[in-house]
Amino acid sequence: MSSSIQSATLEKRLHSSMETMPDFLKKYWNQRAILFTKYKEGILMDEEGWYSVTPEDIAIHIAERCRCDVIIDAFCGVGGNAIQFAFTCHKVIAIDIDETRLMCAKHNAMIYGVADRIEFILGDYLELIPRLKADVVFLSPPWGGPDYLSSKTFDIKTMITLDGEKLYRESLKITNNIAYYLPRNVNIQQITNLAGRGNTCEIQEVYVNGKLKTIVVYYGELVNEDFGENEV
Ligand code: ADP
Repeated sequence: MSSSIQSATLEKRLHSSMETMPDFLKKYWNQRAILFTKYKEGILMDEEGWYSVTPEDIAIHIAERCRCDVIIDAFCGVGGNAIQFAFTCHKVIAIDIDETRLMCAKHNAMIYGVADRIEFILGDYLELIPRLKADVVFLSPPWGGPDYLSSKTFDIKTMITLDGEKLYRESLKITNNIAYYLPRNVNIQQITNLAGRGNTCEIQEVYVNGKLKTIVVYYGELVNEDFGENEV
């Protein structure tokens, strides 16, 4: 494939201007500075990136909570979380199965001046697990696109394409310290059960402009000690 065709295809996927965006994505355009404060410096996002990237404020907060030596961002997408982890962790392992998104993540990390702290791995997280070592794993797996709110309760086993329960169990082979980024309509019983009998987890509701935006669940040593008893 010639490089001009490649870049035309890339431009089609990256939607770096309002004009080239499909209509259903246009509402995200107004949120660009919320998604990345350095958006104007040349941030790149593909279609999924526009609706699945974690808004920067939230990513900063999660990174603060996950402060550690080595962290894995298992589904890094265009890098919103991985970039913020690079500010609070010594090393970030950022994984994605999609080459274009991983390329965007690397490019975006350069804009934030943190690319040297991130190891980018192209591949399937589940297949990579046996080779991975880290203190914390951050999971923000595919929720099945913007339709995740269409049912009343989000079942992590059946609605996360990779099976959200299996993903959690497999991640325990790396560490007990897991942060799980989930839809606001997630089945709470299901996510507390993951902690295992007698263990605690912390469920954090994230509000933006007074609206519940998303849920982050912390397991293992990530549970805030001052949080009080929450035995399951
Ligand atoms: P959403 O449904 O929340 O929009 P996406 O489909 O954008 O989620 O998926 C989130 C990210 O996870 C994407 O960047 C996608 O390429 C990546 N991804 C999907 N499956 C895997 C996998 N098995 N291993 C690593 N990354 C994956």
